[in-house]
Amino acid sequence: MAATIPFSLIRNSSALISPRLFVPFVKAANHNFSKFILPIQSRRLPFSTGATNNEETAAKAAALDADSGAPTIFDKIIHKEIPSSIVYEDEKVLAFRDINPQAPVHVLVIPKFRDGLTQLGKADPRHEEILGQLLYAAKIVAEKEGIVDGFRVVINNGPSACQSVYHLHLHVLGGRQMKWPPG
Ligand code: AMP
Repeated sequence: MAATIPFSLIRNSSALISPRLFVPFVKAANHNFSKFILPIQSRRLPFSTGATNNEETAAKAAALDADSGAPTIFDKIIHKEIPSSIVYEDEKVLAFRDINPQAPVHVLVIPKFRDGLTQLGKADPRHEEILGQLLYAAKIVAEKEGIVDGFRVVINNGPSACQSVYHLHLHVLGGRQMKWPPG
């Protein structure tokens, strides 16, 4: 009989760490113990569904540092200091696959120069041009990914919207039927 690790126990034990860090941990755990938790693996979708309390906790923690001006993980991606799967790039915009996809297509579109745009709520008139460029880049990404007939663009703004990275980004989601209202 296959031994299983109770998934709810693993999830609950992560309350104090970012779900962004925790998800790879679960994936690694599934990989290392794949022989023993096949029943869990076989139930997993290739993308996540639904927000969790952990995401809300992580978003609140991230918000504490939001206005510090500190670089984020996206700066490392822009400067190619860490790997990413780039879908589209031009002088001002970078689009790369989300590490924790919520749909078969899940791409993040970001400005290469943050220029104070930690979140949409910080937008000023000087940002109008880049905001338009980001939205247009989202459409280019949708075309490249073959989802231009049906896709969703999401911007999470602040902790109550579960924003976890304070460098403005558009989520481009598609490849499955979207629900409304969103969670
Ligand atoms: P948000 O929660 O709206 O701030 O979205 C931040 C997104 O960044 C999440 O969907 C994360 O999965 C994603 N993310 C975090 N780190 C990385 C990374 N290194 N590469 C790709 N996506 C990332």
